[in-house]
Amino acid sequence: MKTFALVLASVLGLAQGPAPGDLRIYVIDVEGGGATLVVSPSGRSMLIDSGNGGPLAERDSTRIADAMRAAGLMKIDYLFTTHYDSDHVGGAPAANAVAHFDRFFDHGEMDPKWEQNRGIEERYGAYTGIVRGRRTTVKAGDTIPFGPARVDVVAAQGAVLGRAINGGGQPNPYCQGAEVKPPNTTENSQSAGVLISYGAFSFLDVGDLTWDKEMDLACPANKLGRVSLFLATHHGFFNDQSGAGALLWAIQPRVVIANNGPRKGMAPPAFDRIQRVRGLEGLWQSHLALASDQAHNAPEEMIANLEPSDACKGHAIRIDVRSNGSFVVTNTRNNFSRTYNVR
Ligand SMILES: [Zn+2]
Ligand SMILES: [Zn+2]
Repeated sequence: MKTFALVLASVLGLAQGPAPGDLRIYVIDVEGGGATLVVSPSGRSMLIDSGNGGPLAERDSTRIADAMRAAGLMKIDYLFTTHYDSDHVGGAPAANAVAHFDRFFDHGEMDPKWEQNRGIEERYGAYTGIVRGRRTTVKAGDTIPFGPARVDVVAAQGAVLGRAINGGGQPNPYCQGAEVKPPNTTENSQSAGVLISYGAFSFLDVGDLTWDKEMDLACPANKLGRVSLFLATHHGFFNDQSGAGALLWAIQPRVVIANNGPRKGMAPPAFDRIQRVRGLEGLWQSHLALASDQAHNAPEEMIANLEPSDACKGHAIRIDVRSNGSFVVTNTRNNFSRTYNVR
């Protein structure tokens, strides 16, 4: 009977939660912001960043609600905020109204000595208004309980892991001659990031962590080991403030997803660095990069949205991870999918 109901649901195209034993991820399109929903095989759920604030918050919270419905969720247990820039925390109050978060994780107090962008105090105030009494400050090296999946905090408040995880720790040959950038003084550099592991599968999301901090994670030894899936830092290495090759090539992701906007992230240099990942099996994009030619975009079937933002329907990219470590990436615009088997 249960099988019949599932078959019927899929014939009718109804929302269906993850299969038993699967970890599921939705990279939600918030037009070059951050909002990634992760559902543990235990049913526990976490949203990593909550999209844009101001007049865009309603659009983004609607897209978060769409992903919840697709995953069969009535609420989301955790909100993990990488940092307090508008495209990551601006949508927190609106997202909270649809997701009813129980707990909040973030990198801690905003330090006024950091160079901040416009309106950050107001956003931070709106955020602290909803988290009161349910907030946990994370540090690099912390873990967050998430059912049979494991969440390791790899960076936060400008510090990175002290010791290697995920089989990492080997000297990294890509450090030699690697481009070094001066210490970044923006809120991006304070980003909290996570490595989520489930069996042989691992997913790295470090928000908008900056090049200098990526180098701290990668050199002289790569502290993260190899990862299965990498959410390309800073929406696909925006303005090359992120996307250090020494980290990207050492973690050697099998698949890269960029949560880029139509004109934000995934510029040709980012595309080219990703192509240099040894053994790369797939690159997927939230958006067609409108300023780039076809040779510097993923194949169209692996791009979730092709239009500029005012015409965008906000299709998500879904990842279903089996307990054996194989995973399937699906473009929810056209249902094109690819399976990445255990190797
Ligand atoms: Zn951002
Ligand atoms: Zn879009």
